Amino acid sequence: MTTDGLYERLVAYVGCPAAVAGEGRDPVNTPMIRHWCEAMGHPVPPDGTAPAPMLQVWTMRGLSGPGDTGGGGSRAGAYDELLTLLDEAGCTAVVATDCEQEYLRPLRPGDRITFDAVIESVSPRKATRLGSGYFVTTRMDLRADGELAGRHRFRILKYAPAGTPGDRPRRPRPVVNRDNAGYWEGVERHELLIQRCSSCGTLRLPWLPGCNSCGSGAWDTLPACGRGTVFSHVVVHHPPFPAFDPPYAVALVELAEGVRVLGGVVGVPYEKVRIGMPVTLEFRHADGEPAVPVFRAEV
Ligand code: ZN
Repeated sequence: MTTDGLYERLVAYVGCPAAVAGEGRDPVNTPMIRHWCEAMGHPVPPDGTAPAPMLQVWTMRGLSGPGDTGGGGSRAGAYDELLTLLDEAGCTAVVATDCEQEYLRPLRPGDRITFDAVIESVSPRKATRLGSGYFVTTRMDLRADGELAGRHRFRILKYAPAGTPGDRPRRPRPVVNRDNAGYWEGVERHELLIQRCSSCGTLRLPWLPGCNSCGSGAWDTLPACGRGTVFSHVVVHHPPFPAFDPPYAVALVELAEGVRVLGGVVGVPYEKVRIGMPVTLEFRHADGEPAVPVFRAEV
């Protein structure tokens, strides 16, 4: 099948149902509004209506519900067929990319919610950083007591993961966020930085936005001297991950400073790792991979 032929088959699903005859689990109600406002830090509307961004909440089926089409409901056969077609074309990975909502009338306690969803569009094949694939947009029309109250558009990318078979598999990337960016910047220049509370001096690792002892948000860092001992360890056999070569030992190392950190143990066969074994910090910097701390056993 040519790529163009596939696109024509995908586009044939536009306008087909993605979910049919969905019903909200509960009518719009004050306790859910109040809990949602508390969780989101949103003011409770004084007129008792539901905040508009709650739209999708009323359509969700909970953890035990059937397959999710971006808002619950009974997934229709056409949507499954479309996804299967993409799977068969090698677009086996999926990521939710964005959603968009329109609010047409306020929802009030007592409103009974029903909804339907259609496959609204399928993009031509696009190249993305994750891999190449197709954006699929579904549109859910949500009704309150039968009256159209809002629309929820939900877009996914179904894609063939970048990298062809035979490439050396890559290790998972560290998850870098605002709270731990400084830690990973340190690792990149081969320094393991321990956070130190500016108020009470308590050391902490992994990095956190505030001190667990005194609550202060002020901190500086202390570079680890690099000495430590194995506090605990596991030997990983399963699950196999393509970038790793099991079995291998991973230790929770107690650093000389008193905080603990996870890392691979090198320089000794995995079955020789023991609790209390002295280890020294090193940084592993495989080709094209970010640096990671590892611990060399002193034997
Ligand atoms: Zn503190």
